[in-house]
Amino acid sequence: DKYIGVLTSGGDASGMNAAIRAVTRSAIFNGFKVKGIYRGYEGLITGEIKELTTETVSNIIQRGGTILKTARSQAFMTPEGRKKAYETMQKEHIVALIVIGGDGSLTGARIFAEEYNVVCIGLPGTIDNDLYGTDYTIGYDTALNTIVECVDKIRDTATSHDRIFFVEVMGRDAGYLAQNSAIASGAEAAIIPEDRTDADQLEQFISRGFRKTKNSSIVIVSESPKDGGAMHYADRVKKEYPQYDVRVSILGHLQRGGSPSAYDRILASRLGTGAIEALLEGQRNVLIGIRNNQVVYIPFAEAIKDDKPFDKSLIKVLNELSI
Ligand code: ATP
Repeated sequence: DKYIGVLTSGGDASGMNAAIRAVTRSAIFNGFKVKGIYRGYEGLITGEIKELTTETVSNIIQRGGTILKTARSQAFMTPEGRKKAYETMQKEHIVALIVIGGDGSLTGARIFAEEYNVVCIGLPGTIDNDLYGTDYTIGYDTALNTIVECVDKIRDTATSHDRIFFVEVMGRDAGYLAQNSAIASGAEAAIIPEDRTDADQLEQFISRGFRKTKNSSIVIVSESPKDGGAMHYADRVKKEYPQYDVRVSILGHLQRGGSPSAYDRILASRLGTGAIEALLEGQRNVLIGIRNNQVVYIPFAEAIKDDKPFDKSLIKVLNELSI
């Protein structure tokens, strides 16, 4: 028998289960058998693998996280680790590997595919929405909705106390979650990595008179290892404007969890079936993405470019509406 292997790798994202379900069911529908690989590349190295059937993936479309678990595998970064992974694939009769994960996971898949001439197909699973060539990634919409719910609650307390809140959200080096959650929650400003320099963004916000017409303000700050995130901006405002009551809220891991939104379930289902269709067409080493609401294939090399173009019109929208 020939099997298709599926794994989730890197940071977890809501909708990964819906993607596992879609890959499994679509593969079986098309006459393949499926093996689930546990803990990302780690399970491929250690052989932690179980066959997936239509039943084993039932009742998971609505669940956050990933039933296959996920991990960051140091061993897979080494040639010895990847050699073991390849040996496992042969032993388990896995003829194609479907990797659900972010840019790191796809980088691993690309290197592995080049080294051993194995067939890999990627599915974009990350809340950061930072993969090139796809308009959305699985998990992004759910995280965005969770953030907006949280900011709505923070706004209640901000307004009651006349406070300025700096709310830090995830996104790694991408500002999609910050910019769009700011628009959706009616925040006064967003500080995102794509719109450096950060000093300018804070200055702009202050010079617009952040307290002239309002008695509270919310600024969404994208996490970024470079500048220290929300704490850094709050400290600056506290120093320069001691009259303001400044608070920081770091949303943290709650952004990753929860039941996936309808959009993420549909996206995961479309991309999961797209992955099997791509295999049937003889495609290999491509990421299955969505562009203008159409399923598209993006070569790995293109998907992991680290400068996904940011739509600057989103910045204009927020600026105009936050007066
Ligand atoms: P997220 O963006 O949600 O954090 P990610 O897929 O980018 O997800 P990473 O931790 O960057 O998460 O990568 C996941 C795993 O992919 C790594 O732990 C490693 O096993 C593998 N990987 C990443 N980069 C490489 C590489 N250069 N060579 C081989 N494997 C890699």
